[in-house]
Amino acid sequence: MLHYSCDLCQRPIDPELGIRHVVKISVFPAVNPHDHEEAASTAAESASSDHLDDMHDLLEQLEEQDLAAFLDDGTRTLRFDLCEGCRQRFLRNPLGAKPNKALTFSNN
Ligand SMILES: [Zn+2]
Repeated sequence: MLHYSCDLCQRPIDPELGIRHVVKISVFPAVNPHDHEEAASTAAESASSDHLDDMHDLLEQLEEQDLAAFLDDGTRTLRFDLCEGCRQRFLRNPLGAKPNKALTFSNN
């Protein structure tokens, strides 16, 4: 049987007692789809075999890790399991921003 635990409070989530909430966060560069299409088609039209060979050499020179970094456009998809309590907390502050202490700070 699959066992889930909350990624925030680490408590096990028993599906008979509570609902497991899944949070998916996608982070990706906001590229204008129109610009992207235009760039891609222009590149395809002007690509000669010389260019492709250069690209091939370049890719071969890169170590596997470097290649991953070379191709990395910053896209990430994160996935978390949350219990009910953490789901509510997450929705109140999805980015985990620190509360503004200046408003509640006291000098006693
Ligand atoms: Zn939790």
